[in-house]
Amino acid sequence: MKVITLREGKERSLLRRHPWVFQGSVAKGGGDPGETVRVQSHDGKFLAWAAFSPSSQIRVRAWSFDEAERIDAAFFAGRVRAAVALRRRLGIDSNGVRLIHGEADGLPGLIVDQYDDVLSAQFLSAGTERWKDAIADALVAETGCPYLYERSDSGVRGLEGLPPVTGWLRHPDGPHRATAVTIHENGWKLTLDVAEGHKTGYYLDQRDNRGLFARLVRQLDCRSVLNCYSYTGGFSVAALAGGASEVISVDSSAPALARANAHVTLNGYEASAHVALDADVNGTLRRFIQEGKRFDAIVLDPPKFAPSAAHADRASRAYKDINRLAFKLLNPGGLLLTFSCSGGIGAELFHKIVAGAAMDAAIDGYLLQRLEATADHPTTLTFPEGEYLKGLAIVRKA
Ligand code: SAH
Repeated sequence: MKVITLREGKERSLLRRHPWVFQGSVAKGGGDPGETVRVQSHDGKFLAWAAFSPSSQIRVRAWSFDEAERIDAAFFAGRVRAAVALRRRLGIDSNGVRLIHGEADGLPGLIVDQYDDVLSAQFLSAGTERWKDAIADALVAETGCPYLYERSDSGVRGLEGLPPVTGWLRHPDGPHRATAVTIHENGWKLTLDVAEGHKTGYYLDQRDNRGLFARLVRQLDCRSVLNCYSYTGGFSVAALAGGASEVISVDSSAPALARANAHVTLNGYEASAHVALDADVNGTLRRFIQEGKRFDAIVLDPPKFAPSAAHADRASRAYKDINRLAFKLLNPGGLLLTFSCSGGIGAELFHKIVAGAAMDAAIDGYLLQRLEATADHPTTLTFPEGEYLKGLAIVRKA
């Protein structure tokens, strides 16, 4: 068994059950990529069993803080079982569910979403790469889903020294299943393709917020809706479900917009009620202001502007900019749902940024609700970094 010894004082975060050890905290020891190592304090006390990542700044990711535990196939089966059991207890009314949410489920670097009978997984760390077979077997056994597609094509794999990998990882014999899937969410039908969609195929973390948006659009009688960074139009379908008559989806991905158009008719709405704009959001907001357009409801759900705290300054300006523009386009009494999925921007800071943007646009608003990711993307008490998605539902003062 290989041993990693930490520098004096650097045991504190593992003692608080935070699962990461950075390169600078390691005094000595090493291992092969993903190899299980024993992590100990400078004076030899056991701290954790962990996966070693020789090329990552996060050198060690803890599997277990229990010295008696063995890291083997049964260990992964147990972790997968517990994660799946939690999702069942949550009673999620959709067949699109996040089953494994990395660190929160005790499986650092592993993301697994279930879309109907297909599992879509990202193995993002050296440890999960090494245990891929055992994890894949456990996923199929614990869920009963026969199909498992791998989407390990995220850029973060590069930091681990891992190449991108995609394709079927588990597939029963017989004709090949298509990678296209239809899920239901909030009573709507949504399609995705696990081979071609963003991340694992869809953004399940916004499920509840899309449901809330539909309810608020109806409640506040919003007719014209602008859905910025729409991807495949989940919030646009929500707007139509809420009674909106004129919905614009803006995204820079043409395939995503084609799907957004298809989702409108698939759910029984008039194609003419929806316009898909293949364009940059910032430029589009500016153009709409110049044209004097106004909306009853706007959604801003941009990609991660700040992957880490180091990017927070530039990202803050970018968030403030789009929020200021959106406020200017909002009718009095109108609704803004605004989000940040940047780990580097905390909820407090995001609130400040949005408040500053409203101030610059010379308007005030009621904060209806603070928003977060759905419960199948849990955070834990020991891993605050897991809290990435934050949002605000705001009604402009008349
Ligand atoms: N709201 C969506 C998820 C949005 S993900 C949902 O509920 O499913 C962020 C989206 O922003 C992606 O679809 C990406 O293509 C798009 N995007 C990124 N940069 C953009 C830009 N500058 N202008 C327009 N769209 C952009």
